[in-house]
Amino acid sequence: MNEKIIPFHKPFITEDEINEVVDSIRSGWWTIGPKTKKFETEFGKYIGITNSVSTNSWTAAAHLALEAIGLKEGDEVIIPSITFTATAEVICYFKATPVVVDVEDGTFNISVKAIEKAITSKTRAIIPVHYGGQPCDMDEIFSIAKKYQLKIVEDAAHALPSMYKGRKIGTISDITCFSFYATKTLATGEGGMICTEDDDIAKRCSIMRLHGMSRDAWNRYTSEGSWYYEVVAPGYKYNMTDIQASLGIAQLKKVEKLYAMRKDIAEKYNEAFSKSEFLTTPLIKDDRQTSWHLYPLLLELDKLKISRSHFINMMKDKGIICSVHFIPLYRHPYYRDTFHLKEENFPVSEKLYSAQTSLPIWPGMTQQEIDYVTSTVQSICDENRR
Ligand SMILES: *Cc1c(COP(=O)(O)O)cnc(C)c1O
Repeated sequence: MNEKIIPFHKPFITEDEINEVVDSIRSGWWTIGPKTKKFETEFGKYIGITNSVSTNSWTAAAHLALEAIGLKEGDEVIIPSITFTATAEVICYFKATPVVVDVEDGTFNISVKAIEKAITSKTRAIIPVHYGGQPCDMDEIFSIAKKYQLKIVEDAAHALPSMYKGRKIGTISDITCFSFYATKTLATGEGGMICTEDDDIAKRCSIMRLHGMSRDAWNRYTSEGSWYYEVVAPGYKYNMTDIQASLGIAQLKKVEKLYAMRKDIAEKYNEAFSKSEFLTTPLIKDDRQTSWHLYPLLLELDKLKISRSHFINMMKDKGIICSVHFIPLYRHPYYRDTFHLKEENFPVSEKLYSAQTSLPIWPGMTQQEIDYVTSTVQSICDENRR
């Protein structure tokens, strides 16, 4: 029926990425090595943080971060209901309990009030998720953390580059974890980064990401290093490779340009949708910058005779692929049954989940493609007014 397909995501690939990868392959150094170090150094410089430890995913990064803060069986970690399963699963690795709380209306970010209500004597940490790239209410979260002596590990999988009150996400709390998964704003296929000012945490994470060895391969095999290493703990195999890092090096150089392209698309969407009675555009608070990893649109379901799922199917019929972020954790059988979570305890999440859809927003979308998305959204709404 329709020739053109606008995918939900398309990676931004230029000769820079290809040349860096080819250079890594030709160099013969395929696993963790000089390019991984270079990517870590340049990423740290860009963020403005002393320590950046790369990994093969956000999930690995967060696992290492929670290990480094000493999370133990029986501890509780507070997380938002609207997030990807990885945020919760890393807590389960320790036989600790993910304490899932409701989000705030409008921003989809963790509700500060809900955090405070969820605190018990077992609470050890909070993992705020910067939904779609918009930073959470960090000042309020810091003051709760201080009051109850909790650690903060930020889920910044969406938050590059994002700013909170003029400061880059990655610089503001104990530990921040980024994702470089294929669809994220800086992509290495699979990859992650731990950012921290704490040298001990950084050291622990870098040892544990490679088998608990006290020196990594780069140190061991170059002339600066030696063949000797010691295993100080049963660690993990979570390191980044130089092939991944080469993608990261190329992408980091254009991270601001890619952001500007996403921002431009978001502004065009906002302009097209903000006056529509059928739609609510994303609420971004004044004192922060979102990376625009996602463009979460809300349908005004009481003015439409279709559901969100119908809407997504109709968009698909017109060749536009939309998504949903996220199916709330308490709706997944594992979390619902294991932690006895009930939908009625998450009224804001339920409301947002029923009406949310994520539109395509990727660098390289043409004006024609953006116009086609906006006109298709508007015509589906008009044709299905209640
Ligand atoms: C993508 C994502 C993750 C997981 O990242 P990986 O690098 O795939 O492990 C974690 N949290 C959120 C919110 C995400 O969107």
